[in-house]
Amino acid sequence: MSEESVFLANVHEQMDRAARLVGLPPHIAGILAEPKNELIVHFPVRMDDGSFRLFKGYRIQHNNLLGPYKGGLRFHPETRLDDLKALAMQMTLKCALMEIPFGGAKGGVKCDPRELSDAELMRVTRRFTHALGGNIGPEYDIPAPDVGTDARTMVWLMDTYMNTVGHAQKNSQQRVVTGKTVECGGTWGRAKATGQGVVHCITEWARARNLSLEGKTALIQGYGKVGSHAALILSKLGVSVVGVGDHSGYRLNPEGFNAHRLADYVKQHGSIEGYASGELCSRDDFFGHSADILIPAALQNQIGEAEARTIDVKLIVEGANGPVMTSAEAILQERGIDVVPDILANAGGVTVSYYEWVQNGRQERWEPEKVDYRLDRAMTRAYGRVVERARDAGCSMRDAAHALSLERLMSVYDQRLIFP
Ligand code: NAD
Repeated sequence: MSEESVFLANVHEQMDRAARLVGLPPHIAGILAEPKNELIVHFPVRMDDGSFRLFKGYRIQHNNLLGPYKGGLRFHPETRLDDLKALAMQMTLKCALMEIPFGGAKGGVKCDPRELSDAELMRVTRRFTHALGGNIGPEYDIPAPDVGTDARTMVWLMDTYMNTVGHAQKNSQQRVVTGKTVECGGTWGRAKATGQGVVHCITEWARARNLSLEGKTALIQGYGKVGSHAALILSKLGVSVVGVGDHSGYRLNPEGFNAHRLADYVKQHGSIEGYASGELCSRDDFFGHSADILIPAALQNQIGEAEARTIDVKLIVEGANGPVMTSAEAILQERGIDVVPDILANAGGVTVSYYEWVQNGRQERWEPEKVDYRLDRAMTRAYGRVVERARDAGCSMRDAAHALSLERLMSVYDQRLIFP
């Protein structure tokens, strides 16, 4: 079985376990097992040297029962249909869990943004947006940033979409995408939102155990948008990041990395490679290093059986989607390592994306404090509901989170019934 289908199989298995827990009727399980729409587009882009290259783009629309399709765009050379199907399914569950009026989607372009110039990246984004055409829209399907895309990419997408809908509608289309720069209609707090949500989970976990975070240590895999913001916010709480890793390698520093300096370095150089602090180490050494908290914030399928046996932390908070494989889950549970599951842990991003979409629709601009307060409330509430459900059902937090999501979807299907 290929690695991609392992991820999809893992998500299906998680869904099946929760379906049994809540007695999900087979016809609803059947609907949720497949995306509603799978769109694949091929589009030509002019490269800087004058040649043309054909790119492959995807948009997977999993479910729109609770609201417009919602989910990120991933620009990565390994982008594959099965991954995106798994990620889109997770978005449906995440929005249902957070009680956000959105469905689930995911998309992307098979490309390596590191190998493209800024101008090429812009043309890829614009041609991809054009190729998607009416398959996205502010009330229909709303993309956001994910691996390899950022606020700048979202602004190009917004601008292209706005310029293709006709003059009269132009300005009402701004909310076709979230995660934009603040100047171009983004919200305060979106850039850090996913990392902030991860940290809310950590503070709730510590609060329930009467633990102070001051002096605690963390390992972070992936120092991109999610990982770097989690590190910056944790550093303010007195947690030191003693290990980091990304696609270029891994480093350990028992004294703790300077989260700000490292974030600036990565912004400038594109990775942690060559950073002059700490010691280089192997991937195995990183995962086996002793710390209090591990935040996988890179890609799916990072923690398998081998990693699960050597990981030496008390808590894993899934900043990434799908980093812990099903085969590792039982081992971690047996070893008493708590796992805060992705659909809860990284839900801060889509929650603040929802705030952005609401603000755009009302022509409002919320103060940073309002965004922070609402995110704090949303994460704390969702975390509490998941913990309570896990305790009542005697199950893992992952199964509890999935069960709560499925119950919400089930109750809406029960009332709306299946058309016609
Ligand atoms: P990003 O592109 O900003 O950063 C990705 C990081 O992963 C980089 O540091 C990169 O070097 C690292 N990485 C890539 N391949 C790797 C490999 N093979 N081994 C180790 N590290 C590797 O992406 P991001 O937005 O920070 O997303 C990270 C994860 O968080 C993804 O799983 C994404 O789906 C998830 N997520 C992101 C958001 C968001 O708001 N951006 C929201 C929810 C979930």
